Amino acid sequence: MGGESHRNLTSLSSAKYPQLAARPKGKQIHHIYRDRLGQFTNNGQYKQQSLLAKLYDGRLSDEPHVKLEVWHAPGVTRPTFKEATSKKNEYVEAKKGDWFGPSWSTHWFRVRFTLPYDWIYKPQVELHWDANNEGMVWTEDGNPLQGLTGGGERVEWVVPQEFRDYDKEHTIYIEMACNGMFGNPQGGDTIQPPDPNRYFQLAEADLVSVNLDARALFYDFWVIGDAAREFPEDSWQEHQALQICNEIMDCFIAGEGSRSCIRDCRDIAKKYLGNDVDSEKVYESNTDHAIVNAMGNCHIDTCWLWPWAETQRKIARSWSNQCDLLDRYPEHRFVASQAQQYKWLEQLYPYVWDRVKSHIKKGNFQTIGGSWVEHDTNMPSGESLVRQFSYGQRFFESRFGERCKTFWLPDTFGYSTQLPQLCRLAGMTRFFTQKLSWNNINNFPHTTFNWVSLDGSQVICHMAPCETYTAEAHFGDVSRSVSQHKSMDQDATSLLPFGKGDGGGGPTFGMLEKLRRCRGVSNTVGLLPKVRMAESVEEFFDGLEKRCAEGDTELVTWYGELYFELHRGTYTTQANNKRNNRKAEILLHEIEHLATLATIQELATVQGGGKGKGYKYPKKELDFMWEAVLLCQFHDCLPGSAIEMCYRDSDELYAKVFKTGEKAMEDVLGALGFGDEAVASSEGSEEVVLQTLGWHRQVPATGIAIAAQHQARVAREEENVFVLANGQLDVEVTNGAITSLYDKKAKRQVVPKGQKANQLVFFDDKPLYWQAWDVEVFHLRSRKELEANQSSTKIVMNSAERVAVETTTKISEESWIKTTISLHASTSDSSATSQVEVEAEVEWHETMKFLKVEFPTTITNTEASYETQFGIIRRPTHYNTTWDMAKFEVCCHKWADLSEHGYGVSILNDSKYGFATAGNVMRLSLLRAPKAPDAHADMGRHYMKWAILPHAGALDERTVRAGMEFNVETRAHRHAEPESVKELMSAFKLSDDSSKGLVVDTVKRGEDDEDTSNGDLPPKKGRHVVLRVYDSLGGMGTGTVRFGPVKVEKAWKCDLLEDVIEEVEVGSEGMEIELRAFEVASYKLWLA
Ligand SMILES: [Zn+2]
Repeated sequence: MGGESHRNLTSLSSAKYPQLAARPKGKQIHHIYRDRLGQFTNNGQYKQQSLLAKLYDGRLSDEPHVKLEVWHAPGVTRPTFKEATSKKNEYVEAKKGDWFGPSWSTHWFRVRFTLPYDWIYKPQVELHWDANNEGMVWTEDGNPLQGLTGGGERVEWVVPQEFRDYDKEHTIYIEMACNGMFGNPQGGDTIQPPDPNRYFQLAEADLVSVNLDARALFYDFWVIGDAAREFPEDSWQEHQALQICNEIMDCFIAGEGSRSCIRDCRDIAKKYLGNDVDSEKVYESNTDHAIVNAMGNCHIDTCWLWPWAETQRKIARSWSNQCDLLDRYPEHRFVASQAQQYKWLEQLYPYVWDRVKSHIKKGNFQTIGGSWVEHDTNMPSGESLVRQFSYGQRFFESRFGERCKTFWLPDTFGYSTQLPQLCRLAGMTRFFTQKLSWNNINNFPHTTFNWVSLDGSQVICHMAPCETYTAEAHFGDVSRSVSQHKSMDQDATSLLPFGKGDGGGGPTFGMLEKLRRCRGVSNTVGLLPKVRMAESVEEFFDGLEKRCAEGDTELVTWYGELYFELHRGTYTTQANNKRNNRKAEILLHEIEHLATLATIQELATVQGGGKGKGYKYPKKELDFMWEAVLLCQFHDCLPGSAIEMCYRDSDELYAKVFKTGEKAMEDVLGALGFGDEAVASSEGSEEVVLQTLGWHRQVPATGIAIAAQHQARVAREEENVFVLANGQLDVEVTNGAITSLYDKKAKRQVVPKGQKANQLVFFDDKPLYWQAWDVEVFHLRSRKELEANQSSTKIVMNSAERVAVETTTKISEESWIKTTISLHASTSDSSATSQVEVEAEVEWHETMKFLKVEFPTTITNTEASYETQFGIIRRPTHYNTTWDMAKFEVCCHKWADLSEHGYGVSILNDSKYGFATAGNVMRLSLLRAPKAPDAHADMGRHYMKWAILPHAGALDERTVRAGMEFNVETRAHRHAEPESVKELMSAFKLSDDSSKGLVVDTVKRGEDDEDTSNGDLPPKKGRHVVLRVYDSLGGMGTGTVRFGPVKVEKAWKCDLLEDVIEEVEVGSEGMEIELRAFEVASYKLWLA
């Protein structure tokens, strides 16, 4: 060895790294450094030392800078700006700290402010107004500018540039509404009935100068802090986020929170967020795989914990805020649904309406939903669903020139099985919701899928994986858009609908700031799913449709209803409101049908050279009635989940509907030649039954026309035991319950031996939380049979046509029910059925109880059938799986049926929607007694009817027709020319050889005919009749629609919006039609 030179490793390395440890350095204890972050942005003991203390660098609330005067609107009135600022009103001095109330009252403030000289050049000056209640900022000359939420939320109004001058006084008005976003719930529990005596303190009425850098740093820190808290600990991104946040805090402390150190803090944040988060530019780079599509929205319940009148103000407040944000954030897009809300805005707030319209034109404020309101879908009739769409789409088209393509129901309580077919027929191929994420039994397995109707029609359904429609646009919402996405095997994209909601509000500037930073995180360090701002909801669905069309993916399917495993009490709560819905739907059906015939007759008379009666289709009245009925089908109104105030409103509106309808009915009967005294007594006049059903309605024989063997009979067999009988049935009534129901023709018993049908049962009804909404499965454990009062049954009717016994049953000290069981004479028609009818009168004063009526049967089947809109839905009668069991209470329309081979039993009703079939026991839900959010829900007197219809053979048209006839009262009136009016009423009926499942449901005039148009859309030439026909039983149906004396020139199949699909041949017999199983078909007939 020797002479070798070798590298001196020691000295080389020591040049770069100190040889000696300078000091001890410990491992960073992760959770301590993470918990520390709260000190920087939380309210609490360090607030004054934190970033929060630096958000504003000036605050003025004293005179002369801010001067307040107030005028108290009388009572709980909601005056307009003009009324509120009338010279007659005395405005008195007010100050910060004053209290205002009570609940629902309105107070108008005149706010005068003057900026000091050095504030003119401040980057941003805001007025902060917070009384913990809602408000609206108005200009001095009456333009509503912006809503205020209160309670720390949306309390800032940016003082516009034109007000930024020295020493000059400016005036605005603030309209204070004494309710929070969620009304005035007692004790702070959202669903408790309103506290009528809530008062609100004006806590803030300040001019503030905003430190915009500090505000921006606040959002930087929030999002990076979320990354530190929510990213997995085994990711480098989580560790880096934590280091950056601690670095920012250290920098802030070192710089003592100075303006310049705050800017330095922001530079540190950029290491994690990138350089672009201060503008929409952040969305422009790294656009690959931006799969989360954020979309602003604002759910405004049309009524709920506040009445319609407050909703009208919420709309103006929320939407004007959005217009303001759309001006300030170019990437922002906002969708709003519910034609009714737009219509209110148009009528009540022209200034906001114009502002919204101009944004709609620009494309950043977008209409969606295509329906009149975000309605319940379980209970409205088929035709009501049609009108939700047709009134909705027509409104959007008439005001904005475009229809909606996406049906938008984020919050409705379950989705009935014919919706895909109907919304497609109304021009919507997409459906959005998320409510099934609330299921409390099973986890719905898909995010994006094809939802398939009874008839096979499908729509693309997307359920936002963030599982809310009121996302705060948190880091977590973005990350859940992937972690909770259940359809990523098919397509990973999703919608993220963000914005304050239920009580309105919508996105805030803070949400838009957070989203920019979330995207900054994805662009810079990755890991967080990449969020983009959706151009529109349609753009999102267009992408899905395109990928499906190009074969990139094939979505999974879900057939049938989207049953919501919660809120099952909503089929029953607020019985009166539901009854009004059913009655109004039936009344509208009858008026439209008869009015159509009357206008045809009028036309024929005039064409024949005669002098008509000048009868006009009551379009204005029908529009009023429909719009009212559709409004009341809102998803917190019809389901019964609103406060008492809302039901006072809806009662009043329904009363107007019935009054309008009765008048229209009177007019149309007159036009058709029914009714007047002279007619009644004229020779040849005859009682004629109105025929508005899809079939010819038979009228039961009376008096001596009834053959002896068919006559109704009743006898008292022994104490409390009565037997009612006709040619078909023997009904034994013991203590008010049916202990035997024997079908003499079929020779079989319908009630199992020893059991009692028509038995009233009573349950304790305390769901886990949502009282008016939910009935929980455990209520079934408290089943109690109600026993009729001793010897209370008596015969109350005894004629050959009809016999009846009445029984009174005590429910409690305060409540009772009187039931009248009756039987009509049977008929000689061998295929006809006979039904046992029950009328009930109930006095109801209960607390958290549920009243039902039970029908044990001798029928065996694992499935029961329920009438739904334009069809039948089958559901299990067993609890095999949790999916089966979840359906322990379901929705039905006019009937439910349990059939086995060869025989079945249908239960009809005239105003109920809740039902259950467990094994062989059928159970109709009658009344509930929830105490929240309406403390008096359902208390008082009720009237209802149901019927037991046993039938030989399978479920068929006999049940469908009996259900309808049970709901449509037989109306007969004298007519001087009975044959001609009967002939007229025979129009639009199906020929006898048509498939029995086919039903002509609706007969109406064309919407835009010259003589019916309401002017919303351009009238079209000619006169048309529109028919809605459906297959009610679930089989291909063929038939001929006869026109009777009506001359039809041409006919087309059309959609629900009455747009032509294809021409249909008109022959001498009428029009031949063919429908798929459960198809809903509309036809437009051009009258000659
Ligand atoms: Zn809602």
